[in-house]
Amino acid sequence: MAVRFAPSPTGLLHVGNARQAVANWLFARKTGGRFILRLDDTDTARSTEENEEAIRQDMRWLGLHWDDSFRQTTRLARYAEVAEQLKQAGRLYPCFESEEELQAKRDQRIKRGQAPVYDRAMLKLTPEQRAAAEAGGKRPYWRFLLSNEEVSWNDLVLGRRRVKLPAVSDPVLIRADGTPLYTFTSVVDDLDTGISHVIRGEDHVTNTGVQIDLIKALGRNPGAIAFAHLPLLLDSDGGKLSKRFDGLSLRSLRQDGVEPMAITSYLARLGTSADPEPLPLEALAADFDFSRFSGSAARFDIRQLLALNSRVLHGLPFRDVADRLPPGATEAFWNAVRGNLDLLSEARGYWDVVAGTIVPPVIEGEGDYLHTALDLLPPEPWDDAVWSRWTEALKAATGRKGKPLFLPLRLALTGEDHGPDLKSLLPLIGRTRAALRLQTAAH
Ligand code: GLU
Repeated sequence: MAVRFAPSPTGLLHVGNARQAVANWLFARKTGGRFILRLDDTDTARSTEENEEAIRQDMRWLGLHWDDSFRQTTRLARYAEVAEQLKQAGRLYPCFESEEELQAKRDQRIKRGQAPVYDRAMLKLTPEQRAAAEAGGKRPYWRFLLSNEEVSWNDLVLGRRRVKLPAVSDPVLIRADGTPLYTFTSVVDDLDTGISHVIRGEDHVTNTGVQIDLIKALGRNPGAIAFAHLPLLLDSDGGKLSKRFDGLSLRSLRQDGVEPMAITSYLARLGTSADPEPLPLEALAADFDFSRFSGSAARFDIRQLLALNSRVLHGLPFRDVADRLPPGATEAFWNAVRGNLDLLSEARGYWDVVAGTIVPPVIEGEGDYLHTALDLLPPEPWDDAVWSRWTEALKAATGRKGKPLFLPLRLALTGEDHGPDLKSLLPLIGRTRAALRLQTAAH
């Protein structure tokens, strides 16, 4: 088995294409196959090295390591060779119409109630006409002559799919400047690298019809490649997610402190019948199954992702986060606060509570109580039992219990009315800070 994830380095990875990366990776891992990262960079005007590097970094960050990686622009000689083969077979024909001419033809067809399919006028071009056009300084671009058939395949997600090729315009495979286009280069690479499964977005279904025809035109067996198209992602309001991609790049999620495991766990099961669970990639791979994917669009809900993120954080050991915590943060601190975090960045606020300076609010009407609390604050050294010793003593002295006993202490010690267990926090805060805060909150 071999699969590839083939982003175009024309932008950053967003959750939509990361989902395809995850599906490809999990399938490769499950089947013991190869996972290739291919950079579809033949659109040289829009592809950049920065984007390519960012894609590689994002992939590593997610843990989606590849067995092999290459850029399409390193294979231009090979594409030229295969294009020549298609020309010899009469399947690639030169065209000279300008974009304006083509648009005018499309408009005409629409007016006449016909589908705006390319009319193949250039097929009738004589050698003399071509020579005249070239003498006038024009360079041809090249279209693939599609078969007059319907192609079909058994999609691993969508079931039996058909594309009627006569309803599709002959695609341009080579631009006038000689550079090849994705529809073509993708097929050449899939064949040359022995891809067994093409797993990609549903927006490529029509391309698949064309590409199957291209595989046949190259004398190869399209049945050797299985196709799985993942339905589109919608946002939680049912709108097309692509419009909101800007906010959902992996970069931005990473900056917001979302854990890679939350993202891979969420994307692995989005649009499937299985509930999302925070699982390492290996475990997700073990139960990856195309038959669980729904054939209809899936809703990407950032709230579900964040809920998963907090579950991931709650289970993370100190060593996995140590270098991302504020300097000096200890394992005891991490264990005390992790259960209260939605995002790792929130740990900073708690670090200020235990090791920095916070100014608690003055708690009106609780001055006497807080002074008693200060008097009863046990001497150091402190251990895990200090909180219960202290609050037991306070309970006995004041007769308070429950919220009236605890809430003023929490507000005074942390500045918040909720947060991590004070049993764990108090020893980290230490007696000096605790005493100062009780005093401040008392008046
Ligand atoms: N570069 C194409 C894209 O990003 C790849 C599609 C494919 O997987 O064939 O849409």
